[in-house]
Amino acid sequence: MTIIRADTLGFCPGVRMAVRAAEDAAGGNPGSPVFILGQIVHNPRVSARLAELGARELPSMDGTGAPSGSVVVIRSHGTTPATLENLRASGARVVDATCPKVAANQRAAADYARKGCTVVIAGDHGHGETLGVAAHAPGSVIVSTPAEAALVEARGAVALVAQTTMSEEEYEAIRAVLAARFPELIDRGGICGATRDRRAALARLCVRVDAIVVVGGRNSANTRRLVEYARSLGKPAWHVESADEIPAEVGRYGRVGLTAGASTPDEVIDEAERRLGEL
Ligand code: SF4
Repeated sequence: MTIIRADTLGFCPGVRMAVRAAEDAAGGNPGSPVFILGQIVHNPRVSARLAELGARELPSMDGTGAPSGSVVVIRSHGTTPATLENLRASGARVVDATCPKVAANQRAAADYARKGCTVVIAGDHGHGETLGVAAHAPGSVIVSTPAEAALVEARGAVALVAQTTMSEEEYEAIRAVLAARFPELIDRGGICGATRDRRAALARLCVRVDAIVVVGGRNSANTRRLVEYARSLGKPAWHVESADEIPAEVGRYGRVGLTAGASTPDEVIDEAERRLGEL
């Protein structure tokens, strides 16, 4: 079997920065309990390593209950203003590892809301980043499909902001519906270049291989999107969280492409490559 890696894959800059911030916090605060607000990334291996270093998930996602004097790391997805307020009120020290691109979307959404716009966030319901951006823009609405965009009720101008990991196609489909209904639509965009780069690399990879293996946490939205994208390009694709989940049937293919979501650590990708080599 020939194994070809995507030329861009795995940790994006924002996730790499957040994981490093969490590792530093875990190792650099002896005597203070260190917590992460939620999973630092949607990858069980990373969570386990941080737990070994002494950084655990804070039991609440709203920032309440953090012990005074503890250190709480905000992941790259960011969080809500109310959660930050709760953390500070409880006496915790906050290490804010919100990705600068997510923070820029938060600021833009807040700014539009302040100006009286109806802020629409194109993203996944329940996704931490999207909920955080929405919370910065009171009165905003999250839409994940064109059908939902068709139901948006607007007061004043409408401003559209993207979840950073949305695909361009999904965003464009939502934007088109809103633009038809609200010709003055403010199109802020906000999809991250790292997401685009991984999809473009996957498209290049798909023309060179017979099948694709995508490594990443099962809860990782961007990993799932890579799997869907490979399938939409006509390739059989498997989503695995770790090397031992790669099914033997992958061994039937002569050329197999390997890619990974933005929350997948380098060593997990290396292990998947070694496992493919054994098939
Ligand atoms: S995908 Fe982009 S916006 Fe999201 S954490 Fe990574 S670098 Fe930041």
